[in-house]
Amino acid sequence: MPSTQLTMSTSPSKRDFRCGSALSDRFVPPSYLLDSPRGRRLSVASWPELEGKATPRDTDVLIVGGGLAGVSLGSHLFHLGIDFLLVDPARHLGRRFLQRTGAIGQTTLRSPYAHYVGCQSSSDLDMLDFAKLHWHVLEDYERDQVRLATAGLRAIVPMDVFEGHLRHTVAAHGLDGRHVVDRVESVDESGGGFAAALSSGRNVRARAVVLATGEGTSAVQTGDPRVVRWDDDAALSSEAERVLVVGGGQSAATLALALLRRGKRVTLAYPADELHFQCLDFTADLFEPSGRLAYADHPEDPRFDFAPSVIHEFRHKLEAYEARGRLDILNRARLVDAGGVACLDRDGRREGIDHDMIVPCFGLVPEADVVGLGVTVGTGPRRNCELGRRVYTVGPLCKRVVGPIARAIEGQRVAVDRVVASIVGDLDA
Ligand SMILES: Cc1cc2nc3c(=O)[nH]c(=O)nc-3n(C[C@H](O)[C@H](O)[C@H](O)COP(=O)(O)OP(=O)(O)OC[C@H]3O[C@@H](n4cnc5c(N)ncnc54)[C@H](O)[C@@H]3O)c2cc1C
Repeated sequence: MPSTQLTMSTSPSKRDFRCGSALSDRFVPPSYLLDSPRGRRLSVASWPELEGKATPRDTDVLIVGGGLAGVSLGSHLFHLGIDFLLVDPARHLGRRFLQRTGAIGQTTLRSPYAHYVGCQSSSDLDMLDFAKLHWHVLEDYERDQVRLATAGLRAIVPMDVFEGHLRHTVAAHGLDGRHVVDRVESVDESGGGFAAALSSGRNVRARAVVLATGEGTSAVQTGDPRVVRWDDDAALSSEAERVLVVGGGQSAATLALALLRRGKRVTLAYPADELHFQCLDFTADLFEPSGRLAYADHPEDPRFDFAPSVIHEFRHKLEAYEARGRLDILNRARLVDAGGVACLDRDGRREGIDHDMIVPCFGLVPEADVVGLGVTVGTGPRRNCELGRRVYTVGPLCKRVVGPIARAIEGQRVAVDRVVASIVGDLDA
C-alpha cells in the first residue's frame, strides 16, 4: 500500500531531468497519485450518462456548446429559472473533455476538488461531497486526497469521481432535456434577438446567445501515415511497438506514460531546452478576484504566468522507465515535414524517424468555428464576457478578461458568473 506521506525533497535531485523549474526539486508530489484506476463503475447505475433529447424551439438563452463550460452555465440558469437550450453535436454533455482525456490515458483531473463543473448552490452536491459518497470505491491514497481537500488543501481528483459528478450535475439539472444534439452552423441577428441555423436544417431563436465552443486541436501538416492525432483514441489502441510522442506539455507526458504502461517503447521529444510539463495550472493569484482584476489591467504581467505545477509527479515514473531503457527523452527537437515524411529538426539538423507511430501533442487552439458563426471576436470580450449585444462567451476567448484560467474549469466558472449576472439584467430590461 503506498505511503500516505507526501514526498518533500529539499536537496537537488540526483540529476536535472531537464526539468525547467527549480521549485520542482523542492516539492514533488508522490507519483502514485497518477494511478487512479479510471473506469470504475462508481454509481453509474444511479447516475447514467444521459443522452440529449431536446428538440429545437424558441428560448431565452441559446448555449452553443455543451462542454464543461456549457454545463456550468446551464446549471446556473436552471437555478435562476431562465429558459435555455444547449446545442452540441455530441450525444452526451461534457463528452469532448472525457474523450480527450481518455485518448491520452489521463486518470486524474489536473485541477483541485474545488474546481467542479456546475453551480455553487446550497442545493447542489459539490465534487468533494460526491467523492465522500463514493468512499467505498476509492483507493486508500485517493481517500487521503479527499481528507486533504476536506482540510482545505489542494488534492488530486480521480477522473472517475469527476465524471460521476458531471453525470450527476447533468441529471440533477435536467440538462439532457435541454440538450439538442446538433451543430450550430451560424448565428444571425433577427427580430431583436438571434436565429441560429443548425446542421440538420432546423433553427433555434433566442434572446441571448452564449458561445461555449471550447478549443480545437492544432493540425499537423504532414502526409506521413505514421502520424496520428492524440485526441482520437488511435494512439492507445494502436498495435505499434515504437512510438514517438512529440510535445513538452501535459498531454505529451500523460500519453507517454500511458503508452509505457501498455508495454510500448517510447521516445518523448520536445522543442525546448528543458522539459516543463506545463499544464493548465496557474499562480494562486489568478484564483483570487483581486488577481483576476489585476490581470485584466495588466494581461502581460509576469506575476500571472504559469506556476510550477503538480504535474511534476510524472518525473519519478518517467525516470524509472528511462533507467530501464524503455523511454528516450530528446530535447530541442521539432517535428517537421520533408516531402510527406515526418522527421525531427534538432538545432537545424534533420533526423529520420524510425518509429511505427508518431503522435504530436501540440495543445489546443480556440475553436475556429466561433468566428465562422458570424460573430466578430475582434480584440476579445468585455469584462462581462460580452462579445456583442447579448452575445457572450465562456471559455478560452475570455482570456483577456479572466486571465489564462479562462481555459480551465475555474475560469469558466468566473466567466459563467459574469455572464449570468449580465443575462439576468438583459432579459429583465
Ligand atoms: C487533456 C486535457 C486535460 C485537461 N485537464 C483539465 C483539468 O484537469 N482541469 C481543468 O480545469 N481543465 C482541464 N483541461 C482544459 C479543458 O479542456 C477545459 O477545462 C474544458 O474542457 C473546456 O470546457 P469547454 O466547455 O470550454 O470546452 P469543451 O469541453 O471542448 O466543449 C466545447 C463543446 O462545444 C461544442 N461545439 C463546438 N463548436 C460547436 C458548434 N458550432 N455548435 C455546437 N457545439 C459546438 C463541442 O462539441 C464541445 O462539446 C484539460 C484539457 C485537455 C485537452
